[in-house]
Amino acid sequence: HDRQQNAGVREPLLEVQGLVKRFGGFTAVSEVSFSLAEGEILGLIGPNGSGKSTTFNLIAGLHAPSGGSVRLHGEEIGGLAPATICHRGIARTFQIPRPFRKLSLLENVAIAAFYGQDQKVSRQKAYADAADALGLVQLPGGADARVDGLGAAGLKKLELARALATQPKVLLADESLGGLDHAEMEQAADMLAMIRREKGITIIWVEHIMGVLMRVVDRCIVLDHGEVIAQGKPAEVAHDPKVIEVYLGTDAAEVQQTVADRTP
Ligand code: ADP
Ligand code: MG
Repeated sequence: HDRQQNAGVREPLLEVQGLVKRFGGFTAVSEVSFSLAEGEILGLIGPNGSGKSTTFNLIAGLHAPSGGSVRLHGEEIGGLAPATICHRGIARTFQIPRPFRKLSLLENVAIAAFYGQDQKVSRQKAYADAADALGLVQLPGGADARVDGLGAAGLKKLELARALATQPKVLLADESLGGLDHAEMEQAADMLAMIRREKGITIIWVEHIMGVLMRVVDRCIVLDHGEVIAQGKPAEVAHDPKVIEVYLGTDAAEVQQTVADRTP
């Protein structure tokens, strides 16, 4: 029986092993290892400064690793250029959105579609894919829909649309909830779940706000000072004494309740 189960286990889509990033004498990411199965939503959580964005930057090619490896479909991608990694199928959103303010939403996303896809695409296809991505995140795709006037939630959606327009296999979503009110946070969480469901995209979601994330992720990794201090299913992590001590503190009961309320 065991053997049969093992035969069904495929190699992980993304595998991070012993990843290290030093900035001068400071180690921001220290021996981080995890793997990501196709179709999973993995939460990467931890306090501010714990190395979450740096881990994303290493996977997405903004930094070269000081040590360790990042493999996509078994192939090493650590240290490749961001555009190359994007073309291989990993897209990311940025914690701080920096759209082209003078362009329409559609033009912003079309640029990502045009330059971010692995295949060379026509201008026409780039615009069509951009319109699809905007539709998926529920932003207007008309020529007169501008960046100005988008609130925090709208800017986060635009970041998502730009990433989705590159047709990724893996989406790295950084701090999707920052600056949002509670209702917007719930919507953002539902949107990531919908993107996985509708597009089959595998997701790593970085967040320091843990409550809402715990409703949606299959598994999470907890970082503290650049090190993995816990990983497992939301219910395991939310009750882990070390996670409660360094991270959850007085929020522990609320996060545990969110996990308990999850529909299986
Ligand atoms: P998080 O996203 O978990 O809040 P970061 O990954 O952004 O944390 O940062 C982790 C640590 O690395 C922080 O102490 C931060 O100041 C430091 N750091 C991040 N990027 C750089 C950089 N380019 N140069 C020097 N230190 C950095
Ligand atoms: Mg960060």
